[in-house]
Amino acid sequence: MEVTADVVVVGFGAAGACAAIEAAAAGASVVVLDRFAGGGATALSGGVVYAGGGTRQQVEAGVTDSAEAMFAYLKHEVRDAVSEATLRRFCEDSAKSLAWLEDQGVPFSSALCPFKTSYPTDDYYLYQSGSEDAVFDDSGPDPVPRGHRTKAKGTSGKAFFTRLAEATRRAGVRIMTQTRAVELVLEDGRVAGVHCRTLTGLPRALHSALSRAGAKPWIYYPPVGRKLFGLAAWLERRFGRPLTVTARRGVVISAGGFIADRATIRELGPAYRGGLALGTPGDDGGGIRLGVEAGGKTARMDKISVWRFITPPSALQRGVLVDSEGRRFGDTTRYGAAIGSEIIERGGKAWLLVDDDVLRVARAQVKTQTSPFQRWQVRYFLNRGMVTAPTVEEVAAKAGIGTPQDEAAQPFGTPPYSLINVSVRAGFGYPCPMLTLGGLVVDEDTGEVRGVPGLYAAGRSAVGVCSESYVSGLSLADCVFSGRRAGLHVAESSGAGEARC
Ligand SMILES: Cc1cc2nc3c(=O)[nH]c(=O)nc-3n(C[C@H](O)[C@H](O)[C@H](O)COP(=O)(O)OP(=O)(O)OC[C@H]3O[C@@H](n4cnc5c(N)ncnc54)[C@H](O)[C@@H]3O)c2cc1C
Repeated sequence: MEVTADVVVVGFGAAGACAAIEAAAAGASVVVLDRFAGGGATALSGGVVYAGGGTRQQVEAGVTDSAEAMFAYLKHEVRDAVSEATLRRFCEDSAKSLAWLEDQGVPFSSALCPFKTSYPTDDYYLYQSGSEDAVFDDSGPDPVPRGHRTKAKGTSGKAFFTRLAEATRRAGVRIMTQTRAVELVLEDGRVAGVHCRTLTGLPRALHSALSRAGAKPWIYYPPVGRKLFGLAAWLERRFGRPLTVTARRGVVISAGGFIADRATIRELGPAYRGGLALGTPGDDGGGIRLGVEAGGKTARMDKISVWRFITPPSALQRGVLVDSEGRRFGDTTRYGAAIGSEIIERGGKAWLLVDDDVLRVARAQVKTQTSPFQRWQVRYFLNRGMVTAPTVEEVAAKAGIGTPQDEAAQPFGTPPYSLINVSVRAGFGYPCPMLTLGGLVVDEDTGEVRGVPGLYAAGRSAVGVCSESYVSGLSLADCVFSGRRAGLHVAESSGAGEARC
């Protein structure tokens, strides 16, 4: 079986949808392939997009921002993951990029969140989603809210992807689900298509049902998720039929990252053990491998974003982080991924020391500051994940760690004291979510994979703006930026056929 299009996109998440829409808008015929039903990690996400420089929502909320201020902050996070010129372009395009998403039907809102949180409740959609207040001291700029949560109840990723998927269909893109890319077609040293395995009939319907039913359990209750996806993989092996999709102009890889590749994550060290894999079984590194087999290079494959959020409730920011020796570390006002990476440096183990005042305020904030999905985690760490005692020495002994030392700058406060276990593997109720940030190295002007003509990469299959460090919304923002860039340039490329003429 054979299918031909100008552009073939492998992977239908945020990056793939944006690449497909942009390529179709540039006049190319486009086919998108997805191993499962489409949506990937994007549809499971919080739907937060990091955007600034004066978005419509910031202006409506009375927030002052500029591309320059956004650049000044992001330079601290992004460091050398991309060049300064690329980061500047990302910031200068940011407000327009969010408006483009709105044009595709993705709704945002200017309802500004008044408290520090890792994810706002359904009342708020614009919030400070990074570490802005920790990066600049009091003489620096005011922390600017740039987290734009898609306006929808619960976790908003589903609404974000549904709208993008609708826009992709409206653009006339052909979407082929339950179709797995297994090898790239190379012609005269150029990528000219994709060999796939595709499902039809009843196996296809079963595969689709299993992958939809298994997506959330795969993250939140892996024994069940792995069983369902194990059956889906068996269907692929037993009933998958060969299919070649020819690309006249080029192929875009937007097949996610590699957090599902457990062997590779294990090799990075024991500190990562027991974390929650944020993604889908499609994040097995297969897309990145396709690029490597064709001659592409990877970078930042050791960069894993580990999220340890201690807010909400916001009062917990007043606690003190300590390691297993009782030594203080870190800054509780920083974003959860920055805290997570410091916990990893300490072997994955850490505790938050709080006094009675903080605990009382924190408990009172739970109802108003948490969404339902956060509430069970907060309940866990304020109950089973915590030990309490009248003195710091006693509470440390109860937790089995060294005694934290008082420091004049931040005394411990009112007894009794509590230690909350915030380790990577803090127990069944509260493991740290993890996401891979590295991928294929691309030309930052076009998104073409370096050294592989005709092959482009985007989203978590590629090195991008968030590949050094993640703050909420930066991955989806990069998927939009890199996906659109790849879609536009692949559509404009001369392609294999014309190059040979
Ligand atoms: C619970 C959760 C919350 C998150 N919240 C946020 C947030 O609010 N903001 C933010 O910026 N980031 C967030 N993230 C991270 C973000 O969702 C992802 O980094 C991002 O969606 C990745 O997008 P992508 O397009 O690169 O990949 P995906 O969305 O994962 O899409 C990749 C697609 O490729 C398909 N695929 C894989 N291999 C193949 C193959 N061989 N052939 C064909 N198809 C293939 C997969 O089935 C998948 O559909 C969150 C992630 C999770 C899981």
